[in-house]
Amino acid sequence: MSRSLRLPDSLARRAGEFTAAALAILHRWHRHHQEEEAPAAAPAPAPQNDLGALLSPSQVRTYLDCPFKWWAKYGLGLPDPPNGSFVRGRVVHRLAEMYYRARLAGQAPDVDALPFEETWDLAAAQAAFGAGEDVDLLKRQAAALTRMYLDQIAAEVQPAAVETPVAGAIAGVAVRGIIDVLDVHGRIIDLKTAARTPAGVAADYAFQVATYRQLEPRASGTVQLATLVATKTPKIVTQTYTVQPADLRLTETLYPLVREGIRNGLYLPNRGSNLCSRKHCNFATACEAEFGGCVKGQAEE
Ligand code: SF4
Repeated sequence: MSRSLRLPDSLARRAGEFTAAALAILHRWHRHHQEEEAPAAAPAPAPQNDLGALLSPSQVRTYLDCPFKWWAKYGLGLPDPPNGSFVRGRVVHRLAEMYYRARLAGQAPDVDALPFEETWDLAAAQAAFGAGEDVDLLKRQAAALTRMYLDQIAAEVQPAAVETPVAGAIAGVAVRGIIDVLDVHGRIIDLKTAARTPAGVAADYAFQVATYRQLEPRASGTVQLATLVATKTPKIVTQTYTVQPADLRLTETLYPLVREGIRNGLYLPNRGSNLCSRKHCNFATACEAEFGGCVKGQAEE
């Protein structure tokens, strides 16, 4: 559990077909997620009636959290580089994906041969680390959490599909997403990284998996969510969740309402959001310029 992933020299010795395949996956994943996270219309604003034409759970989460943030990201296409915590989570996700893909291909992947350094470097190259972020610590945490997850959780999972794009209509709204892992029992297998122990399944996560339940016929509606908590002593909190009829109803009401809100073009800033700070929002300067006021946190020189 406390072992860390090996450095490139040892990786190079052990690198065989598995590592080459993993690197190919890494680059494919990178392209794939750039497309998934791409703004709906960038860099120029889309015609008003095209906005919201294709939604995703993450777009809904962003819009409900702060409509102006949605507009800045998906409408204006302003840059939104990930911070250090996001990079840590992304690296764990990518390595887990490589592991699951190898399992799906009938291999017994060697965790020590996963290209941790390359994966970190690729993710970090696009990041904007905050002044208060300890990059070395984040990197060590990523390695430790990956090892814990693969040893304790992934080894027990029987994957049936990995990184599956899903798309369809919910209450007349076109929706898309990507399911990380679906196991042979139809369970959605998910992982998240967090700085604190989760109190329960978050509402936006329930919304996300209720979406997937409707768009992927193989999904049973049961979810296993592993939260990798990057506290001083890292730990994994595993939760099981079953999508409820009330969750499905929420998606049926919110997707059309969010699309309507987007198309009406009233993008208010939510300065009361938990994520409204310079640390968590890349649009703080644009937001202050547009509306006035002061966003929490210090502006970088
Ligand atoms: S700074 Fe706050 S109010 Fe402005 S876009 Fe970001 S989250 Fe929204």
